Amino acid sequence: MKVIGLIGGLSWESSAHYYRIINQETRERLGGVHSARSLMWSVDFGEIERLQHDGQWDALTLEMIDAARRLERGGADFIVLCTNTMHRMASDIEGAVAIPLLHIADPTAERIKAADFTKIGLLGTAFTMEQDFYKGRLTDKFGLDVLVPDAEDRRTVHEIIYKELVAGVVRDESRDAYRGVIARLIERGAQAVILGCTEIMILVHPEDSAVPLFDTTEIHAVAAVERALAIA
Ligand code: GLU
Repeated sequence: MKVIGLIGGLSWESSAHYYRIINQETRERLGGVHSARSLMWSVDFGEIERLQHDGQWDALTLEMIDAARRLERGGADFIVLCTNTMHRMASDIEGAVAIPLLHIADPTAERIKAADFTKIGLLGTAFTMEQDFYKGRLTDKFGLDVLVPDAEDRRTVHEIIYKELVAGVVRDESRDAYRGVIARLIERGAQAVILGCTEIMILVHPEDSAVPLFDTTEIHAVAAVERALAIA
């Protein structure tokens, strides 16, 4: 079994789910009381969140490279960056270590393609919904047609992530707001919706949507197990 190197704390609310899913999936696949070999380097999200909103992407890149190097030195065989947003610096991380990065968008897009969807909605932080690093990969590498919410809905989705979900706050009003955003994406033709922020699964569940949801936390964690067990 390979050693999974997790960059966590982005936020720890979702890292805890990664840890649980990875170990549950390993036990299911191997039986008995098997669990995953893993390392996690967990950052201080207070610092990260401030740098993100100040637009200090160079400092954030250095922090992610430092995390990846720590995992490599610790014996990780590959890196799992437990967030969508910080995949903005995926290629910088890949260039700084000799071990591979399991990009969160890839197994997500593969599952969407396997389900035969082509037009998909994307929910995530404003960085993920508005910049090209994530949508561009889905479009250029996988040929998907990606829809993001309008400006007001993007603001709502972003604020609920940063003011509530990363702080472990789950409110029914916020779930209703997400339901509305999802319904509007469906009206515009979305055949499925990507939960492209690793905390959204804490708030939103399949019953909140009339179309299938692709939860990046679950998909990425399961893909990590498949890589560790050399199934994929
Ligand atoms: N976990 C979130 C994501 O998947 C947001 C936190 C972060 O900015 O890394 O994008």
